[in-house]
Amino acid sequence: MNIAQLQTRVYRVPTDLPEADGTFAWNATTMVLVEAVAESGQRGLGFTYAAAEAANLIRCTLAEQVVGRDVDHVGAAWEAMVRSVRNMGRPGIASTAISAVDIALWDLKARLAGQPLYRLLGAWRDEVPIYGSGGFTSYDDETLRKQFTGWVEQGIRMVKMKIGKDWGTQPESDVHRVQVARQAIGPDVELFVDANGAYSPRQAIAMAQRFAEQGVSYFEEPVSSDHLAELAFVRQHVPMAVAAGEYGYDPWYFRDMLQAGAVDILQADVTRCLGVTGWLEAAHLAHSFAVPFSAHTAPSIHAQIGCAVPRLAHVEYFHDHARIERMFFDGAPQPVNGCLRPDPTRPGLGLELKAQDAERWRIEA
Ligand SMILES: [Mg+2]
Repeated sequence: MNIAQLQTRVYRVPTDLPEADGTFAWNATTMVLVEAVAESGQRGLGFTYAAAEAANLIRCTLAEQVVGRDVDHVGAAWEAMVRSVRNMGRPGIASTAISAVDIALWDLKARLAGQPLYRLLGAWRDEVPIYGSGGFTSYDDETLRKQFTGWVEQGIRMVKMKIGKDWGTQPESDVHRVQVARQAIGPDVELFVDANGAYSPRQAIAMAQRFAEQGVSYFEEPVSSDHLAELAFVRQHVPMAVAAGEYGYDPWYFRDMLQAGAVDILQADVTRCLGVTGWLEAAHLAHSFAVPFSAHTAPSIHAQIGCAVPRLAHVEYFHDHARIERMFFDGAPQPVNGCLRPDPTRPGLGLELKAQDAERWRIEA
């Protein structure tokens, strides 16, 4: 059975409130969705939270690499897509486009096999622990409190907030907000912080001491992950785990990050790092370095494939994406006792697009 066509659509969904982290602000999320259609009419679904331009790249460049191939030859399709973008530059938009297609091809393959994707890939577990992720620097204290207590009431035992407000220029505000969060969640819930690269190395080390007083156990991108030596330096001087990897667009980036000793926890995002094929490679690289592995955003996809890798620390239950995936997909898993559990009776990713509901968010691209 061959792949007959790829169909792409782009959606833009406004956030429920203005959102910001240490180094970026946004008021909408763009999703590029791909359906891989087999000759039989069976469809596989993939998506990436990326620039709308990725859709054009899929139509103009990637489709011809994939259409006509055997649906089981996902690796060959992946390799052809990766090779086809050599001259345009692969990391960035091209990698997100390849990711969406690769996810759709894996979903299609698993659907045709009549199996949930995590079982097709080989299961290590049947549910994944999640951390609630939000706590934006644009939130006031009351919004932060409400979001975190909401997650704790749902049984979620780990939460992550943004710090490094205004490129690290508001350190007292950061410390205050971490105190607010700790008071809201109580002493037993794990508290994570994410600076999105807003601090300088020495500032990050000084701030880490303040956060440690509030029992913060995980510090994501204390400095920019563009500078692995700086990240490694910070890691050697702070008491909590350092995590990074969300801007990894290929397995080779993760290899370099691990070789540099830059992280205690490696993060990877299936919608950026060349899809399921690339994400599995990242997971096994982390395993070979004895480094725990964590999934960045897109919880409905990571709930599946997080069941299919060793040494999984957690999956990020990102506020925006949890909300969008609930609106867009029947079968998006919901938290139970701090975990997401894929439905073993649903094949593939277990997601069905609510096309009519989603239509109102569709944009031309
Ligand atoms: Mg982050």
